[in-house]
Amino acid sequence: RLMDILSGVQSEFGCVSCEAVSVIAEKLQISEVDVKQTRSFYHFFTCEPVGKYAIYLNNAVVACMMGMGEIADEFEKQLGIKMGQRTADNMASLHFTACIGMSDQEPAAIINDVVFTSLTRDKVKAIVADMKAGKSVKDMVKETGDGNNANSLVHAMVKNNIKKVGPVVLDAYESGAGLSKALEVNSQAVIGEVQASGLRGRGGAGFPTGMKWMFCAKESGDKYVLCNADEGEPGTFKDRVLLTERAAMVFEGMAIGGYAIGAKEGILYLRREYKYLQALLEDTLKNMREKNLLGKNIMGKGFDFDIRVQFGAGAYVCGEESALIESAEGKRGEPRNRPPFPAQKGYKNKPSVVNNVETFCAVSRILHKGGAWHKGLGTDESAGVKVLSISGDCKNPGVYEIEWGMTIQEMLDMVGATDVQAVQVAGPSGVCLNPEQFGRKIALEDLATGGSMTVIGKNRDLLKDVVLNFMEFFADESCGSCVTCRSFNMILRNAIKKVVEGNGIRKDVEDMAAWSEIIRKTTRCGLGQTSANPIATTIKNFKHLYDARVKDVDYASLFDMSKSVAESCEVVGRKPVVHE
Ligand code: SF4
Repeated sequence: RLMDILSGVQSEFGCVSCEAVSVIAEKLQISEVDVKQTRSFYHFFTCEPVGKYAIYLNNAVVACMMGMGEIADEFEKQLGIKMGQRTADNMASLHFTACIGMSDQEPAAIINDVVFTSLTRDKVKAIVADMKAGKSVKDMVKETGDGNNANSLVHAMVKNNIKKVGPVVLDAYESGAGLSKALEVNSQAVIGEVQASGLRGRGGAGFPTGMKWMFCAKESGDKYVLCNADEGEPGTFKDRVLLTERAAMVFEGMAIGGYAIGAKEGILYLRREYKYLQALLEDTLKNMREKNLLGKNIMGKGFDFDIRVQFGAGAYVCGEESALIESAEGKRGEPRNRPPFPAQKGYKNKPSVVNNVETFCAVSRILHKGGAWHKGLGTDESAGVKVLSISGDCKNPGVYEIEWGMTIQEMLDMVGATDVQAVQVAGPSGVCLNPEQFGRKIALEDLATGGSMTVIGKNRDLLKDVVLNFMEFFADESCGSCVTCRSFNMILRNAIKKVVEGNGIRKDVEDMAAWSEIIRKTTRCGLGQTSANPIATTIKNFKHLYDARVKDVDYASLFDMSKSVAESCEVVGRKPVVHE
């Protein structure tokens, strides 16, 4: 539980100092290096104190599109400091972070684990005035909220923009409906029902859920069910909505998973950016225990199962299941080599099933309504529905539950998007589509997605506003274990920056395409394997944008010794550097 300890120390003292590291190491009887390496891995653990109000703004694509630059500028003006700095009186500090799951209501900020949405310059002025008056962040939110309980406080902070309710995940659900059906039959029959439903993991990779459970059920000894609620893909926010509106359904799906594989313990691994959901989730768990939907002898059927919430601390790679397990064990979130797979050796090296929030919701409904019913929805290869987080340049950003098989054009019509230059499917690790490709289908057999959909209007500079931003993100989020992921993401970031700044030559584009292939083939986990996609897919689908930006260089003339240095520099569009 090192993550919980570090998290508590960070909240209490504003940092995890070297002194704190020594005390933690001594009390836990582990080395200081073990504590330090975990501390250094996560964005939300710091060695130096953050301000009394730690203000985190995100510099993800949609936030920047919606005016984050102005908001950062206003905070800097009001506080008299720059991003990355702390005020002299320690009142506040300003930090950039990755996407905070608010793409439907950006610009947004997290201040001391409370979220502020749809920010304007005037709202920033009011927030800073409240800080100077010493108000607590919760009080700042309550003024516009409608109550004091955990649920109403969350709703006071965040709008859950549910725009389309489908039949599986977001439709009204009676708590216990799926679990009671599951407990009427044996565990093999539950797995059989999930297999018959055709359910495949909703995180994007699409591995058949029933098969994963079957592998784990065959193992013996202690087992665990982990729910991956670490949605960090820039542009996604549906788990935030599901955990607010359907938390009991998620927990019930986990309990059904526990019954199926023979586990007694479940862990919801929640991204730290959603810390404000903690009270609501703990309330839901308490409520479920009181109703005997969790705990001992559930529904009198002799099945014991309970769940705890485990927080991450800001690391995108922890969305990868083996990295998530490492993190839940209190370590750096570095993906493991596979095999062994988590179903064989997962949390604490015990057989474990990891599924995401949406998958567990679907499990509850499937057990209630039957596998055959679910199999009848969607397409032949992609049964059921998909919950999408749609944001960017459209009239109606929000959460939409659609049947698999919808085309991109149908999706754009649904959200009121016109004048569209591109659609980024599945976040930065996915694919950037041009308008000629808008007839393609959202389905695992065509466009697989974990749910992030970003609409990019014709007024955007695609290479600067989107591709460069994504490459900054990957260069920052690589865990560093693989040489090619660690180094080539930096190199690619620098190369696209060079192109964006007008200093690129055609050879740079050829190099970027080649390096993208190297990264894809030589990295250990999905992050590295897909990190060059922003560049690779735009070189393929938006070649004209690169053509318009790079210079065609006559290489032979570079080696023409009769030319002066100044003339050769002219060829590549650079100024000569003169060393005195
Ligand atoms: Fe880490 Fe990148 Fe290697 Fe994944 S591919 S293990 S993120 S270095």
